[in-house]
Parts: sequence; structure tokens; C-alpha cells
Amino acid sequence: MEHFDCVVVGGGMVGAASALTLAQLGLQVALVEKFTPKDFSTEQALDLRVSAISLASQNLLSQVGAWQQVQQWRTCPYKRLGVWEHESAYTEFNADDIEQSHLGHIVENRLIQLALWQQITGMSNIRTFCPETLIALEQDNNKATLTLSNNTLTAKLVIGADGAQSKVREMSAIGMTGWDYQQSAMLINVETSMSQQDITWQQFSPTGPVAFLPLPGKSPLGGYASLVLYHQRDEITRLASLSNSQLQQEILKSFPKQLGDIKVLGKGDFPLTRRHANTYQNKQVLLLGDAAHTINPMAGQGVNLGFKDVLALQHVIAAAIGNGEVWHDESVLARYEQMRRKENLLMMSTMDALYASFSHPSPLIKVARNIALLAVNKVPFLNSTIKNKALAYACGL
Ligand SMILES: Cc1cc2nc3c(=O)[nH]c(=O)nc-3n(C[C@H](O)[C@H](O)[C@H](O)COP(=O)(O)OP(=O)(O)OC[C@H]3O[C@@H](n4cnc5c(N)ncnc54)[C@H](O)[C@@H]3O)c2cc1C
Repeated sequence: MEHFDCVVVGGGMVGAASALTLAQLGLQVALVEKFTPKDFSTEQALDLRVSAISLASQNLLSQVGAWQQVQQWRTCPYKRLGVWEHESAYTEFNADDIEQSHLGHIVENRLIQLALWQQITGMSNIRTFCPETLIALEQDNNKATLTLSNNTLTAKLVIGADGAQSKVREMSAIGMTGWDYQQSAMLINVETSMSQQDITWQQFSPTGPVAFLPLPGKSPLGGYASLVLYHQRDEITRLASLSNSQLQQEILKSFPKQLGDIKVLGKGDFPLTRRHANTYQNKQVLLLGDAAHTINPMAGQGVNLGFKDVLALQHVIAAAIGNGEVWHDESVLARYEQMRRKENLLMMSTMDALYASFSHPSPLIKVARNIALLAVNKVPFLNSTIKNKALAYACGL
């Protein structure tokens, strides 16, 4: 049996970042992950799972030394964000408005994870257990015991960063509330007739939005992009059954003309769910990232919220160590939830309100939401206050 200050279960983007930030405080950390991250080579096709990484998340990744590697591999910065339903109410957010060079980067999830793991191998106070799976978790006398497939570990603190279907959450009897949106999101990687772009856009419609995220590199047609199409599950199942060339025809019919010509390279679909753990803590167990909250991906905030959890926990433990407190005391750990719960809930609820408003079929509500978008763009006072504040918030500033 091996003992650690902290065992992080789940070595995805959030878990790996958390292992690094806790190791930066001098703690002895174990990281348990089911699947070995795959090495990178430039010939590999762009992965379907990508995230819009905010400026705040970029700062965290820089702090732990992973961002430099991600940038050397491949990322696509974007400077502008366009949203509209009716074309006359097109609203564009620009990095210049908040005095930044860009609003964020589109990055493949697996590259973020891999860059974090590369940093982990350089840390003498992090041990990785991979491939390994959590089988059982028990807590007694200020200590947790984790039974893995091939090892048994004990820890003063256990972090559940094992995603939306978290076993840590289940094994520590933390309940959750949530629902299925009855919709799915289809992710489609395409070649585009336009070369690499600096804009990401989203057009709303009552059946669900369609979105464009630019991807890096030159393709035979011009550039690359990731398209996201939200729709009822039956419709997404139908689209998923089409050949790439049939899907291409459907996309050209349903996406706005800004898209230009495309060639479909690959596709995948994900059900949309919302989950929020009833508490982020049970004694020495804390939940971070999707294990604590799974948000509608419409505004691309999921992993960005998870990285804010990571920073909050590092801050709480660093402050406790600095004040001479027992950093793993339940009352100290409770400060993490106090810092994060309200913000996570606010973001989840805001996304739900937007989602409900834009999917409402009433013509009156349609007019109202387009007037609201138009006003935010055209009325100088609203433009400089609401629009820029919302933009800075979305960037995590
Ligand atoms: C369609 C779609 C688009 C999205 N777009 C964006 C976006 O643009 N921007 C954004 O910020 N977010 C986006 N998200 C959300 C984002 O992908 C998630 O918030 C993020 O992946 C969560 O990271 P995580 O590390 O918490 O969990 P995960 O990525 O789920 O990682 C959990 C890890 O735990 C491991 N694990 C699980 N169980 C065990 C176990 N029992 N033992 C050991 N290991 C285990 C898994 O193998 C995995 O590596 C999107 C989500 C979807 C569905």
C-alpha cells in the first residue's frame, strides 16, 4: 500500500492540470488514469474533440508549462466571435474591444491532455498509475483508501476528476441533479474552401444552433474547421447514418453561406446533458471539472470552468499552507466549494436560459431576442458595457 498527500482520479485535461498545480505546492501526488494518452505526430489528422480555450485557461496552462508545447504542436487562435439568428441582428465580438490580441484558441482536447502529461513526467513528486481503474473508495479517520485494479493507495485528499460519469462521485455517495436536453451535438471536421480563419461563429435557430470553429493548417481545399450541429436526437441519428458526401450536401443546405464550400472528413455525436453534483465535497473527497458539473457545450465553457476549479483549489491549499493550517482539514477543503459552486451554477443557468430562449418557437420571442441582439450591437451604451463585460467574462478575465 502506498501513501500520497493527494490522489487524483482521472487524468483528462482537468485532472492532469490539478495534479500539476498541487505538485507545484510541494505535495506528493498520484494520478490514476484508465487510458494511456496517445503520442502526437504532425501527420495525425485533427481530432474531433476540440475546445475553445479561454485566455484564463491559457494562463493556467502556461503556469504549469504545458501551453508552450500545445502551441508548438497545433492551435488556432481566434480574434472574433459572431452570433446571430436573423442576419440583420448579427453581433460580433472582437478582441480589440477588450484590448486583447485574441479571444481564445481552438485546441484538440487530446493535445492539451498530452502536453500536461509531458509536464507530469518531469515532476518527481507525481506518480502516474496508468492504465489503472478505480475499483473502490473508502474513507475513515481523515484518510481515504483507493483500491485500483492492480494497486492500493491511501491519501489525505482524493480528487474526483473522472468526468461526467464519475465513479468517485458515485462511490462517495454524492448525489446530483440534472437532465437530458433531448438533443445531441454532432461534431464534424471539414476542409473549407477558405484558408485558416480568425473567427468562430454560431447561428441560432429553434431546432438548435450551428457553429463554426476554425482549425489550424492548410488543406487541399484551403483550410480546416470543426462544425457543430445541435438538433433533436432522431435527426442527429439520421445524419450520423449518412455517408460523408451525403452529410456534406445536408450541411451545405442547412449552414449559413459564410461557411463557403466544404468537404467532410469525419464526424461524431454526443448527447447533451446537464449534471450538477449536490455537493463538491464529502469529507476528504473533492470533485472537479465534469465530475462536479456538466454544462451545455453551446458556449464552449465546460473545460474552462474545470480549469477555474483547478486554480481555486490550488489557491485554497496554498493559502492554508501559508497560514500554517492543516491543508487537508475538511473545513479548509470546504473553501473550494464556496469559491466555485455559485459561479458554476450561474454559468450553467445562463446557458440554459439562452438555450431555452433561442429554441422557443414563438414568433414574438423570436422578434424579442433578435431586437436584444441588435441592441447589444448597435446601442453605444449597451455595446460598451454589457457586450464588453460579457466578452471579458467569457474569456475568463
Ligand atoms: C460536443 C462537446 C463540445 C464541447 N466543447 C467545449 C469547448 O469548446 N470548450 C470547453 O471549455 N468545453 C467544451 N466541452 C466540454 C469539455 O469537453 C469537458 O468539460 C471536458 O472534457 C471535461 O474535462 P474533465 O477532465 O473534467 O473530464 P474528462 O475529459 O471526461 O476526463 C475524465 C478522465 O477520467 C478518466 N476516468 C474516468 N473514469 C475513471 C476511473 N474509474 N478510473 C480511472 N480513470 C478514469 C477518463 O479516462 C478521462 O481521461 C465540450 C463538450 C462536448 C460534449
